[in-house]
Amino acid sequence: MEEFDAQKRVLLLKGIGVSPGIVIGTAYLLDRGIVETAHFCHLTASETDNEVERFKGALKESRDQLARIKKKLETDGKGKEHIRIIDAHLMILRDNMLINDTVKVIRDERVNAEWALKKVLKDLIEFFDRMDDEYLRQRSSDIEHIVNRVLLNLTGKKHESITDIKTPSIIVAHDLTPADTALMNKSVISGFLTDVGGSTSHTAIMARALEIPAVVGLESITRSVEAGGTVIIDGTTGTVIVNPSESVVEVYKKRQEKYLSYGRELFHYRDLPSETKDGRRIRLMGNMEMVDEIDTLLHHGAEGIGLYRTEFLYLNRKDSPTEEEHVKAYRQVAKKMAPYPAIIRTLDVGGDKLILDGNEYDEINPAMGLRAIRYCLKNPGIFKTQLRGILRASASGKLKVMFPMISGIDEIRHAKVILEEAKAELKAEGKAFDPDIKVGVMIEIPSAAIIADLIVKEVDFISIGTNDLLQYSLAIDRVNEHVAYLYEPFHPAVLRIIKTVADAAANAGVSAGVCGEMAGEAPYALILLGFGIEHLSMNAVSLLKVKRLVRSVSYAETKKICKNILNLPTARDVEQYISSKLPDIYKKEEFWN
Ligand code: PEP
Ligand code: MG
Repeated sequence: MEEFDAQKRVLLLKGIGVSPGIVIGTAYLLDRGIVETAHFCHLTASETDNEVERFKGALKESRDQLARIKKKLETDGKGKEHIRIIDAHLMILRDNMLINDTVKVIRDERVNAEWALKKVLKDLIEFFDRMDDEYLRQRSSDIEHIVNRVLLNLTGKKHESITDIKTPSIIVAHDLTPADTALMNKSVISGFLTDVGGSTSHTAIMARALEIPAVVGLESITRSVEAGGTVIIDGTTGTVIVNPSESVVEVYKKRQEKYLSYGRELFHYRDLPSETKDGRRIRLMGNMEMVDEIDTLLHHGAEGIGLYRTEFLYLNRKDSPTEEEHVKAYRQVAKKMAPYPAIIRTLDVGGDKLILDGNEYDEINPAMGLRAIRYCLKNPGIFKTQLRGILRASASGKLKVMFPMISGIDEIRHAKVILEEAKAELKAEGKAFDPDIKVGVMIEIPSAAIIADLIVKEVDFISIGTNDLLQYSLAIDRVNEHVAYLYEPFHPAVLRIIKTVADAAANAGVSAGVCGEMAGEAPYALILLGFGIEHLSMNAVSLLKVKRLVRSVSYAETKKICKNILNLPTARDVEQYISSKLPDIYKKEEFWN
């Protein structure tokens, strides 16, 4: 969306806000665009030999540059995930298809190396664009980043490094590589804007982990901004204002101050116990995808990991992670979170998530297909490798294992049989693990919710995945914008289902948590408390906001509120009622609710 207000000379752009926060700053245009190259054809045999050598030299130079970045990240003590992404880029540089195809085009078509490489890149990108999976489509950007680096080295142009920027800036670029984001120094780079990108890109994930406000997918921001010009970023709403008038800057300074003071105020809650006015303890935990996120979660007062989405370990690669890779990742989580617990969710592949490379199951309706635990039970080798990894890491801290997308008792029993096999194998091999590791399941399918009273007899804990539970209860695809208006967490059916599950857990004395997005929003959290939920797991920025809510209500009050909402006929009625009951502070908030 693009609007131009000629009177105020303000250019207002709307992109995808991938990392929240408001910043006002000076634009720094980072040249990460398409590299212009010449086209030479009809080369002689010796000239093509020369081009192949030049290409190989540029590959080497690119590898050396990435190795230097990797070294710097290691010396700076940056997390393993950043380093893993650089390793993935180094792997692309060694990819035989990329190298051999380029050499073949140079020789067969007798063209210069730049031209040949661009041709190979075009084919690779077309190949990725044809993929159905959004995550894999976005991986083509990784290849583009790498090829651009090689092209810059071929053309002898300088690859400007983010670390060369010394004055406080907002980066504006066509695209940024994860290597760029990993090198950002927060005291210099206050935010970034890019033409391309989506919220699941590595760059976006890193921005969130580093807490740098960012808006991506702006299409033409590099053409709309001049170097040195003023820009405002609202990373929460995805709004960008270029060349703002003084009055607009004033408005945003006030918003920024409000946002910052809101954040500061929330930090008072960080070390206070998460308990209601009448003394009920509610454990607030973090949702995570990458080990790098743990520091931020701890900084925001997380008392454990309520959901480690382990899918990330399987991304960006052709094979599955080895047992050692699993052990390494989960051990880090166990150690960093100790003495708090961390719930490791086994692979939740399929649906709107990634499709494993080589997955032979072509599905018309993947959300209801062979996903998550169904996929794992059909692929016991992959499943057991992960379970062995979780078990071995459980010797280093307090880990729990959780199975996603359970629809009935048989799946739980089957998964537990494989877990027991893994334990027996490790025992025979003399490898350490926690023999009493707690086993839980996600309740995200209505059939599981309805028989929650039976499920709680089979497990140590349950966690309600409201994102999927809403999708399946209300029959709305969670990624289909046409039915997004029906995605109503206040829907009376949703509330009754959650209550059924919470009651079943309470009656059996089994701990019940919620780890879907509902847990991180104050109005929904209020209801979850009243239903008797004891654990809420959410992203870092929601933690303190929810802790403040917990501390500003009494459990008795929330129970009364919940009793009243169960008879309200529509989501709208529930919303109005809850709004009237929320502590005043939440009525004024603009940023998070
Ligand atoms: C959920 O479905 O609510 C959940 C937490 O799992 P995911 O969002 O990873 O599907
Ligand atoms: Mg889910």
